[in-house]
Amino acid sequence: MNHDAGLPRVVVFSLGGTIASTNTAGETAGGVTPRLGARDLVEAVPQLQKVAELETVSFRQVASSDLTLQDIVALAAQITGCFEAGASGAVVTQGTDTIEETSFALDLLVRDHRPVVVTGAMRNPTLAGPDGPANLLAAVQVAAGPEAAGLGTLVVLNDEIHAARFVRKTHTSSPATFHSPTVGRLGWMTEGRPRIAFRAPTLEGIPTGVNEQEVPPVALLTSALGDDSRLIAQVETLGYAGLVIEALGGGHVPSHVVPVLADLASRLPVVLASRTGSGEILRETYSFPGSERDLLSRPLIPAGFLDGPKARILLSLLLAAGANLDRVRTAFEQINTSITAPIVSGAHPTAGATAY
Ligand code: ASP
Repeated sequence: MNHDAGLPRVVVFSLGGTIASTNTAGETAGGVTPRLGARDLVEAVPQLQKVAELETVSFRQVASSDLTLQDIVALAAQITGCFEAGASGAVVTQGTDTIEETSFALDLLVRDHRPVVVTGAMRNPTLAGPDGPANLLAAVQVAAGPEAAGLGTLVVLNDEIHAARFVRKTHTSSPATFHSPTVGRLGWMTEGRPRIAFRAPTLEGIPTGVNEQEVPPVALLTSALGDDSRLIAQVETLGYAGLVIEALGGGHVPSHVVPVLADLASRLPVVLASRTGSGEILRETYSFPGSERDLLSRPLIPAGFLDGPKARILLSLLLAAGANLDRVRTAFEQINTSITAPIVSGAHPTAGATAY
């Protein structure tokens, strides 16, 4: 692609999604499907040539609902290989439906201070005002610059920069769908420059040695008014290796569900997250039957500020790395204390995490 020796080298991996979705030539009716590869996406944005020396990899060409955690483990290995070969940054383009999960998985798996930036689009290239080209340009500008070093995996869309740990898709069609409700965005783009207002400490001590072939199934269930515990009772029989329960409010379930969760938690990791989409699991406020205090004494594992889908990613990767119950508990604790860790000025965390 661009071979300007003075520019940082950025590798663009395409995985499909709206940003890559079109009709066949001349077709006007019917929906769009992922058809464009990384090279097509890069060639559609001539401004990129001034930002970075680009390498393109068409890694997958699917709707993001068809991506798997195994795909992301394989992608993380390729990104790590590119960094070892001297790339300055990596950009991943994919469908927005699962960005909040894939970006968090990359955040956990790629141990490097160089930026990994995930982006996509809400308006496909056949619509008026497609946002894919601007999002790709912004993502490469973030990945190529020094500003995002040490921030882990980022999600860049709509000229906003979000930390993978906190970001969520919040709207079915708006280009402003991505928000980080608990903390807000880390920064934004102005005239092509990344502006970073906040730096979240990088994640340490999260699973290494993940085996792509052995990512065990983890169930994600959401509690609701008048829930009976029928599905929870089936989790082990169906072959799941763990459960994330998205509980009500600060971590609450109907009282009659508690014995079923407690029974499961005596054999499998059961993680307690909140269905609210923002804030942390409480630990010591309520003591009614089915409260967070009740559930944590059973003992469910608090997801902290991780929402259900992100908690499921962490639990899956820990189990794929062979972590036992104690290690799962410690890793969730580490992630949740990472936000209160002091940031050492000028330090760039590099590879080298605690092995699980
Ligand atoms: N609506 C999705 C997107 O934004 C489709 C997908 O996630 O693949 O790309």
